[in-house]
Amino acid sequence: MSIKVDAEKCIGCGTCEDICPLDCIRMDEAGKPFIKYELCWYCGSCQIDCPCEAIKVTIPFLIR
Ligand code: SF4
Ligand code: SF4
Repeated sequence: MSIKVDAEKCIGCGTCEDICPLDCIRMDEAGKPFIKYELCWYCGSCQIDCPCEAIKVTIPFLIR
């Protein structure tokens, strides 16, 4: 996976869901982000705006 969410760090604030410009993050039943990878453009906004440093975005090799 090219976007990793550290469930231990995540506080379920929903900022990543709100901030994603492509609307590809949803909160799951456990209150953690679920990412629709096929829609993601790897802009990095979710990583930058997460208050807990719980998201790590790595750009896939094929689109670097
Ligand atoms: S912004 Fe960070 S802390 Fe908030 S829901 Fe997303 S991953 Fe969790
Ligand atoms: S990297 Fe950008 S497009 Fe992908 S999930 Fe994060 S905010 Fe959305």
